[in-house]
Amino acid sequence: MSTTEIARHWRLKAQRYQLVGEVCPHCNGKIFPPRDVCPHCAEEATQPPFRFSGKGEVYSYTTVHNPPEGYEESAPYTVALVKLAEGPLITAQLTDVANSEVEIGMPVEMVTRKLRSYGEEGLIIYGYKFRPQLARI
Ligand SMILES: [Zn+2]
Repeated sequence: MSTTEIARHWRLKAQRYQLVGEVCPHCNGKIFPPRDVCPHCAEEATQPPFRFSGKGEVYSYTTVHNPPEGYEESAPYTVALVKLAEGPLITAQLTDVANSEVEIGMPVEMVTRKLRSYGEEGLIIYGYKFRPQLARI
């Protein structure tokens, strides 16, 4: 992994540990990930960061049996399209749940987990995944 890649990971760290997006000043739509043009109303979106709750539900999902390089040790794993409570859809790996137990509409919440490790240097990359929401009593 090059110095440039390491710098990039540091820069993206905030986005990987918290779901930080934006709120559109024109239509008040929630945006994730941050971008220059609002996907809801196509106006320019330059706003202070908006931190998402990390709560959502499974919108669709698929099980990955042939993962990209670096992710082999966790295969097979489930990747879901999660609909956040605030609206946007986000793609993320699910954790703490058997592939066979995943259902559309299942409430999930964001957690920080090991994503992958880089070769022999053993550099470990962390990021967000989603797990079933724990029951609140
Ligand atoms: Zn907008």
